[in-house]
Amino acid sequence: MHSVEEAAAAVAERVVRLATELVALRDAGGRVLAADVTSPRALPAFDNSAMDGYAARSVELPSALPIFATIGAGDALPSDAIPERVAVRIFTGAPMPTALDTVVIQEDAKLEDNGNVTLPVSPAGDNIRRAGEDIAIGEVAVAAGVRLGPAELGLLAAIGIADVAVVRAPRVALIATGDELVDVGTAPGPSQIVDSSAHALAAAIRDAGGTPTYVGIAKDDPLTMAALIASALDHDVVITTGGVSVGDRDHVRAALVAAGVELELYKVAMKPGKPFSFGMNQRVPVFGLPGNPVSSFVAFELFVRPALLAMQGAAVTQRARAPVSLVRGYRKQPGRTHYIRAKVVRNGEHLVAHPHAKQGSAMLTSLIGCNALVELAADASEIAPNSMVPAILLEAV
Ligand code: AMP
Ligand code: MG
Repeated sequence: MHSVEEAAAAVAERVVRLATELVALRDAGGRVLAADVTSPRALPAFDNSAMDGYAARSVELPSALPIFATIGAGDALPSDAIPERVAVRIFTGAPMPTALDTVVIQEDAKLEDNGNVTLPVSPAGDNIRRAGEDIAIGEVAVAAGVRLGPAELGLLAAIGIADVAVVRAPRVALIATGDELVDVGTAPGPSQIVDSSAHALAAAIRDAGGTPTYVGIAKDDPLTMAALIASALDHDVVITTGGVSVGDRDHVRAALVAAGVELELYKVAMKPGKPFSFGMNQRVPVFGLPGNPVSSFVAFELFVRPALLAMQGAAVTQRARAPVSLVRGYRKQPGRTHYIRAKVVRNGEHLVAHPHAKQGSAMLTSLIGCNALVELAADASEIAPNSMVPAILLEAV
């Protein structure tokens, strides 16, 4: 049996980055940048006013000055030279005349009855955004491996990147197995259950940047299972759930082998999720996740999510980890790493983990409200209340 670390390393060693494609910026949210984008433009492109007010020469202030011109955002600069001892009415984003060096905000200016404006002292450079102060030409705007979010998309748009090179999103085939399973729209008969993992895992795949395809439910029969798995190998990744335990009807392992998958892992020293299988069919990683919904969720988090991100060339493939104070104690058999589903809350500098009252690996409610997997080390046997233990944070806390 492999440790969690060995299993994660085996998966990481196998998966390869997918090809690059060009996508429109408006479709690039959540995608991973394939190469550094250096800025072809300075931001701002020209000196401009940061406020609504009056542009002037700082050496001439304080003073009452006639208003020579008005410049709004999008206006051209006045074509005439700006004479000495005048002010220019200016608005936020308007280009700054080079002859002037300060902007007095309108709240500090006083319009006189004779049309002049009285301006107080205002240091050179005040309320002016300088060309290139945001980003200079040739500076890296967004680095390769970054997953594009609102901040990156905004910056890329500002520098005029209409199409962006990203790594292809992995196409992930999802196959559920089990004679007891029905699709969510079908009322389960006696002793049947709904295939819930298909939905949980599809969402988890999307969250990790992949594109899920639900292939369907395979009956507990090795031949049809193998055929379904083989038919899914035109995807970038194949995931099965269930059928990897040691029961008489657990045929997935044999079906994987029959479908040409070279199995590298088939048991990992973890709880939940021990019957986790992994292998490759040429370049296609195939994950045999456990059947219990919580087990498949945890195994996905530990092994599949990092793999999907690595296939996209993501610089960060791991969730954030942090030490947490576990409010209750545990006693466990040494040998397997345990993952306790918990709600982590911040208490000043400290993160405190409240384990969910239900920890059964078949209990779907045990994941609701949880934002962390608290890790109890494989060799640990006794964990005292309020011990500091590592946690995988599923959300920022
Ligand atoms: P198995 O590993 O196939 O024996 O499955 C273990 C448990 O998980 C059984 O109670 C199955 O009914 C349940 N299970 C398997 N696949 C799914 C699924 N896709 N959705 C919900 N429960 C499942
Ligand atoms: Mg089954």
